[in-house]
Amino acid sequence: MYKYQRLLILSTNLPVLLAINIVIACTLVISDMYGPASKQAKLTWLAILAAVTAYRYFVHLYFSNNNKHKLDLHLVGVVIAGAVWAFYPYLFHQSMSTKEIMLTLIIFCGMSGGSVTLLSCDLRSAIAYVSLTVFPYSLVLITSGDSSLESLGFMGIVYGAALCITAVKSARIIFSLIDNQAKVEAIASDLEVDAYTKDQKISMLEQRDMLTGLLNRKSFISAVTLMKAKKNKQCSLNGFVHIDIEKLHNINQNYGHQYGDHVITKVGEVLKNIDKFYGTCSARYGNDEFIMLINVGSEEEILEFIGTIKDQLAVYFQLDNIRVKPDYYIGYYLGDDSISTSQAMRNAYLAVTQGKKSNIRVCCFDKKIQEGQQRNQYLRYHLKAAIDAENFFMNFQPIVRCSTQEVHSFEALVRWELEGQRVSPDEFISVAEEHGLIIELGQLILTMSIEALAEINKTYPKVSISINVSVIQLEDDDFIRYLQFLINRYSINPANVHLEITETAMISNIEKLTHRIIQAKDAGVMISVDDFGTGFSSIAVLRNLQIDYIKIDKSYIDDICSCEKDESIVSAVTKMAHTIGTRVIAEGVETNDQLALLGQSEIDFYQGYLFSKPVSFIEAIHLLERHKKQQKLA
Ligand code: C2E
Ligand code: MG
Ligand code: MG
Repeated sequence: MYKYQRLLILSTNLPVLLAINIVIACTLVISDMYGPASKQAKLTWLAILAAVTAYRYFVHLYFSNNNKHKLDLHLVGVVIAGAVWAFYPYLFHQSMSTKEIMLTLIIFCGMSGGSVTLLSCDLRSAIAYVSLTVFPYSLVLITSGDSSLESLGFMGIVYGAALCITAVKSARIIFSLIDNQAKVEAIASDLEVDAYTKDQKISMLEQRDMLTGLLNRKSFISAVTLMKAKKNKQCSLNGFVHIDIEKLHNINQNYGHQYGDHVITKVGEVLKNIDKFYGTCSARYGNDEFIMLINVGSEEEILEFIGTIKDQLAVYFQLDNIRVKPDYYIGYYLGDDSISTSQAMRNAYLAVTQGKKSNIRVCCFDKKIQEGQQRNQYLRYHLKAAIDAENFFMNFQPIVRCSTQEVHSFEALVRWELEGQRVSPDEFISVAEEHGLIIELGQLILTMSIEALAEINKTYPKVSISINVSVIQLEDDDFIRYLQFLINRYSINPANVHLEITETAMISNIEKLTHRIIQAKDAGVMISVDDFGTGFSSIAVLRNLQIDYIKIDKSYIDDICSCEKDESIVSAVTKMAHTIGTRVIAEGVETNDQLALLGQSEIDFYQGYLFSKPVSFIEAIHLLERHKKQQKLA
């Protein structure tokens, strides 16, 4: 056991041990202690000892410490060397004086004492060496018949026995040291293995999506680089396919997140199987989105592949008693290596986003999307600068009471001119939302609108202002605080502030927004649901949140004169709203005929070009003054 470690210790000690052996032997032989008579024999003895020492040194040098026989070969050397030493007194003690015998015995004892320590890593060698060097000499002395030498012989025996005991103890200590070191090394190696396994796990977590086991977005980019390097000439195009599970949030909402996770996992499994079969590479892009890369030779090939994905995904996913067959939006980008992987992924993503906007299930990244993207970047860049410079102004469009034609409120509509051109708020508001600029812009709009209201209320205290707010703004924890700060700062009546939230935004974020709407109402502010009819809100939601106004979307008003269905809808919605105490505003009224029909439906207010287009603040004040005069005249 532990041969290697023991040999290591022995190898360190052995050259010293051999050198001591030779030095002592030479001293004994070359010194003139015993007279010239035995010189020849002693030189012969020295030559034999030198040969044995050479053998031992050869074993030391030639065999590696991993050689399983090396320790035994050493033992052979030790035994022979011990035997040669044992012969020394036997051969020469006759010619020695008592003084020489004593000196020789002392030298032998000293030599074997040293060897006990130097050879203690191999107990057999230590014992053999001590026994062969001390005991034979002691026995020779005991049997010499000389009483003074006899006692020296006995001393030698006792000393030899003591050395043997020391050898055993030293060997034990060395064994236990080696054992301890082995244990420490084993623990260290276990720790290393443990650390390695943990490292592996961490890198697996870093590279893989936990839920599906697919690559994550980051490692997908590295995998794509490999795939690009491997592709052949026939399939020289990179096809990036972006898959989006439609309305996963509805699945989460209706059946719980556990079911949503189940659907994501199953989609992941389908994609993994496709990867195996087609040699493609799939990754989870984000929540309910996946990205794939396939090398193809033409557009037809990628469309065929998308057809396969659609077929494979057109299945029901079941968990417990719930079965759902989700729909998907797929966007793709086909290009060569000239475009970076992240840009190609972004293009596929933009294609799917466009598909979702236009309700196209499979949408290709084309020139139009590219131009839209460039415009988006351009607007983002200038929007940032415009927000810093507060380079916006507000227009105000009156909302009029149907029965009296008096101005009830103004809708505040933000305006931005970029390089002399007016940019539609529809366009730049969504850019601001997309790029995290809406909170700052929203605060600017809120400030300008409330400043305007404070000015209007000085003369017309009953006129309100309707301010459009986006969901991201409402989610911001500081929104209500900032609103209240403005209300206090300008000392306005909070009931004159109406917050407009579009119906689609409100319904798709109802969980997050309910609390904020309650807070706004607690602050005394009114809530309007904008573009009503474009989403799917229920009467229960309107009642529970105590919505103050609904603004029926322009699309229903446009055809109200020609489409009976729209007229009935508007009329029914108005009645329903009135039953829960919600007032109704018609948006986009452009003709007197529309207004006449709205009057029949008992709509409370209307807004539209018929009465006035959105106007500047000064014009809004003039409009109010004109209207006041007209009413006085009437
Ligand atoms: P919205 O809140 O539904 O605003 C009404 C839009 O309809 C306004 O367009 C207005 O000019 C237009 N409109 C009003 N009456 C008529 C009409 O009789 N005929 C026609 N053809 N159009 C009419 P605008 O100002 O371009 O605003 C478009 C959308 O941009 C707004 O829709 C609103 O969603 C958003 N927006 C405007 N200003 C802001 C704002 O300050 N903050 C936020 N978050 N969104 C805003
Ligand atoms: Mg509005
Ligand atoms: Mg609207």
